[in-house]
Amino acid sequence: MLKVNNWLKSARMRVWPQHCQLCGNGLLKANSVLCQPCLGDLPWNTTCCQVCALPLPQNAICGRCLRKPPSYHRTLATFSYQDPLSHIVHGLKYGQRLYYGRFLGNALAEMVAQGAGNDEFKIPDLILPVPLHQRRLNERGYNQALEIAKPVARLLSVAISDRVIVRNTETKEQSQLSALERRRNLKGAFFIRRSMKGLYVVIVDDVMTTGATVTELTRALIKAGARRIDVWVAARAALGGNNSPKT
Ligand SMILES: [Zn+2]
Ligand SMILES: [Zn+2]
Repeated sequence: MLKVNNWLKSARMRVWPQHCQLCGNGLLKANSVLCQPCLGDLPWNTTCCQVCALPLPQNAICGRCLRKPPSYHRTLATFSYQDPLSHIVHGLKYGQRLYYGRFLGNALAEMVAQGAGNDEFKIPDLILPVPLHQRRLNERGYNQALEIAKPVARLLSVAISDRVIVRNTETKEQSQLSALERRRNLKGAFFIRRSMKGLYVVIVDDVMTTGATVTELTRALIKAGARRIDVWVAARAALGGNNSPKT
């Protein structure tokens, strides 16, 4: 019986909604969970730092990246982390709305496809979603980063693996910590299971705030031999700004 219940729950989590998830309009845009006007109202991250995707008034390189260039090559963020997009991310992460993962993944893949041809957005060899610690994965039943990464990999025909990276230590929820604490919290948190020699790897996550997670992961992937690492996220938040994740 438990198995049937779990199956029903998991089927419900994946059923594509029939109405706009923000306004209830029945006319959904194709492949979207929103109607056209709500889709247009989302905080698309159109101008940002060309390295870390921090939202900026125009495309440039932010002061932080100029002072200390990150070890990843560049970041692509579909949205800036603000309302109402934050509700969508929250619904995916804590509300079991897995269709939001597909929606965010579709939007991310579309953004990459639009930039294809541009030298900066090459199609990678491998997509790696940021893993959850096993205990958190057991609690939640799914990894939101994997739910976003799956449609990206499928639409762009790129290999994906959720078995390459192991999350060693159980880290505290990053959102409760300062930038310095986040870095300390993650030291040595990831282990790479196989050689990444010569590979161009993309890390996929739901939200990037300080970049501490992807920085630590980049360090581990470079150690494993990766040639280039890019970061693709559904949303980019500014730490300390009024749009930083509260959860
Ligand atoms: Zn709507
Ligand atoms: Zn930057």
